[in-house]
Amino acid sequence: MSSIIQLLPDHVANQIAAGEVVQRPASVVKELLENAVDAGASEIKLIVKDAGKTLIQVIDNGKGMSVTDSRLCFERHATSKIRFAEDLFSLHTKGFRGEALASIAAIAHVEMKTKQDQEELGTHIVIEGSKFISQEVAVLPRGTSFAIKNLFFNIPARRNFLKSDTVEFRHIVDEFERVALAHSNIGFILYHNGSEMFNLPSSNPRQRIVNIFSGRTNEKLVPVKESTEIVEIEGFVCKPEFAKKNRGEQFFFVNDRFIKSGYLHHAVSAAYEGLLKDGSQPGYFLYLTVPPNTIDINIHPTKTEVKFDDEHALYAILRSAIKHSLGQFNVAPVLDFDRDANLDTPYNYENKEAVMPTVVVDRSYNPFADEKPSRPTSASFSSSPSFRKAEKAPVWESLYTELTQTSEEVEGFSFESEEVTGSLFNDNEVEQAVQKTYQIHKKYIVSPIKSGMVIIDQKRAHQRILYEQFLTNITVHHAASQQLLFPLMLYFNRSELDLIEEMRGALENTGFVFAEFNSDHIVISGLPVNVVESEVSILIEELISDLQQEVPDTSFSQSDSIAKSMARSLAIKTGILLTEKEQENMVNSLFACKEPGVSPFHKPTFITVSVEDLDKRFAI
Ligand code: ADP
Ligand code: MG
Repeated sequence: MSSIIQLLPDHVANQIAAGEVVQRPASVVKELLENAVDAGASEIKLIVKDAGKTLIQVIDNGKGMSVTDSRLCFERHATSKIRFAEDLFSLHTKGFRGEALASIAAIAHVEMKTKQDQEELGTHIVIEGSKFISQEVAVLPRGTSFAIKNLFFNIPARRNFLKSDTVEFRHIVDEFERVALAHSNIGFILYHNGSEMFNLPSSNPRQRIVNIFSGRTNEKLVPVKESTEIVEIEGFVCKPEFAKKNRGEQFFFVNDRFIKSGYLHHAVSAAYEGLLKDGSQPGYFLYLTVPPNTIDINIHPTKTEVKFDDEHALYAILRSAIKHSLGQFNVAPVLDFDRDANLDTPYNYENKEAVMPTVVVDRSYNPFADEKPSRPTSASFSSSPSFRKAEKAPVWESLYTELTQTSEEVEGFSFESEEVTGSLFNDNEVEQAVQKTYQIHKKYIVSPIKSGMVIIDQKRAHQRILYEQFLTNITVHHAASQQLLFPLMLYFNRSELDLIEEMRGALENTGFVFAEFNSDHIVISGLPVNVVESEVSILIEELISDLQQEVPDTSFSQSDSIAKSMARSLAIKTGILLTEKEQENMVNSLFACKEPGVSPFHKPTFITVSVEDLDKRFAI
């Protein structure tokens, strides 16, 4: 039988390797920026068109390449950064695998211009899908420029797989920020479709962070510094009061390389223990320097995970360094013997609004009736304003009509407050005595139906109701808004603001009115009717966090994600007592929904139990 094994031609091998190295335009950005840093550039310019689908260009003023190197660099395993396997243990460069350029050239049109300082002239090379098209001598400034055009031109499946420009550009910004944060001494500029998105002059780490994440970031930062034999730690953590619901501003760098580490993240969180509200995330920008031979990096070309030799020690050092900083900068509580600790506001209550104590009155209590028709309303319901708002109007209206109807009967009595006013003889007495719904364990609403009974999960049901309401508002018609007397000013970082701006149309349809959009804050002058002012910042934070985790890439899925996120934030929670009227309203609204059976998160909203089922259970 004839032999069938063949060596793959280089361009095919390169295309296969490219699948690993280049997943999307942002991967190209990462590789080119890192090469520019390795080349010792002090200024790096990134120019992007159509989120990198049309053009990604990186221009640096680094050391450039010789004529020979400028051809060799496109070969696989061609690198100037290591020679021997041992060099891997003393790496001071970002690259070393020598496969990025070969991979990129296999799947795009590449134009490279490069000149070394000492040379008169430079080299201009054009290469398309691994094929050399031209090589010329050219008059060029010192440094290198790589222009990558038509990425994935020869792999349509990969090209079609790319997400919307918004999504792809966000990935590019992520990579850009990571490299820029790791190298504050280098100046970076980013242009997208002709407009300047970032202009970061060479500076120190603190200034770099502030330049990327807007002006107010400065007051959030607490410096961290620790030097031991195992590790040197420098950088900043954010004060607990600025903690956010999302994990946006969390950066670890090890030897100037951005890494992800759940383990180190845990060490930071442990240092914040007791200082954060539930579910909030500390912000941090931490730069670790370790001897290169004690870590194992880049096991996989695109992975950002690192293995450390002495993880446990690192954990302990990091945690105590941060604890120390938080304490030193008076962020953590300090012992103060002159102060009566009983007068301190518990942390969780610090930013909460004072709630007016409410008198709880059972308006339907009739001393002459044999049985109590309904239970008192709880004041605790105020924590679910969205639902309550809808309920409030009818309750107040009926109170008012009852008052006028019965004013003659109650004349002569003196009441301490208006709240207590209510009808002694209720016209609907008979009707009310037949209760149609029951709430059990402040969690489920039970209601008899023809065939048996239905048990509704109050939280999921309300999520479904709100979700459909928001989705209709966003996609079909504008909802009304409530004007704010004092517009709300909310601060966000740049990528968060981009996200809000992108959702602006949809949010306006739900009833938000944005009076201003600035570089580091927004001003809101109107809100959807079912949102209360004190909840807005949490609502928007949760929205951003949800969208950052699962970036929607079509306008429908954007509306859908917004409606889901708002429904989740605003839905009444388990543990809230509902009045009978509220329960009834919930049941009616749920069954008026298009898809009453499932919550927006695909969980069942209700179950039914038939009389036969009950009969069967009793038959034993
Ligand atoms: P690696 O970075 O892993 O060495 P690459 O394929 O990214 O592999 O680059 C191959 C080589 O090309 C590098 O080792 C370097 O010598 C050279 N090179 C790439 N980009 C630049 C640049 N911007 N300036 C100077 N030399 C560069
Ligand atoms: Mg490289």
